[in-house]
Amino acid sequence: MESNESDAELAFYSAMSLLGLVDYSLDFAYKKYASMRARVEVHGKTIEARVSEGFRAAPQDAVMGLALNLLERVFHKNANAEYYARAYKSFIKRQSTAELDKSMRRKRTRTMNPAGKVYDLTEILANVKANYPPVFGDTTVVGIGWSQRLGRRVLGIHDEAHNIIAINSRLDDERVPRFFMEYLVYHELLHAKHGAKYERGASMQRRVHTKEFRDDEKRFAYLAEAEHWIKTRWPPR
Ligand SMILES: [Zn+2]
Repeated sequence: MESNESDAELAFYSAMSLLGLVDYSLDFAYKKYASMRARVEVHGKTIEARVSEGFRAAPQDAVMGLALNLLERVFHKNANAEYYARAYKSFIKRQSTAELDKSMRRKRTRTMNPAGKVYDLTEILANVKANYPPVFGDTTVVGIGWSQRLGRRVLGIHDEAHNIIAINSRLDDERVPRFFMEYLVYHELLHAKHGAKYERGASMQRRVHTKEFRDDEKRFAYLAEAEHWIKTRWPPR
């Protein structure tokens, strides 16, 4: 688990001091809202701020913009901090693009079938989990299947919205070795285990492979072979 909670709290304190709200105290908490929301209420000399979990991935400047936006409205003040307002707006814009992409993935995964012409993904998934009990423990996914709709260069994805693994159907091909299919399922299952982490400040779509993720990946028996194969043998000519 990673937490930037103190950073967001700090952003609210900075916004408060920028607006001259120096004699207020702050009661800050993240909330599991279904969408990107945030609210501020004033109770006596306490400012209560509740912010959607989704803002954990936001850059500091964007959270600062959010804090200013909320406080300016409640206190009818204006910090004239255009820079932070822009950072906030651009984060929200990226976020809604990411949401849109997620809902498209949702549609895409609905039609997936795990049994291919060459490989049965359900069987490969069961095998991978059985071969690496210390890595996966009780990590589980709701489903796995072949997808015809992944981009040419995307081999597989773990859709965290529905905890489903989708594998590019172009790989259901006898020229693709079994160890590579196992590697791919192993890799996507690690995403289910470690959760989605995104680079702060960068595109919301860029997945991060943490050190813990990489360490787990090194426990796969044919990692070197899989990495070599993808570099030299794919796509097939
Ligand atoms: Zn990955």
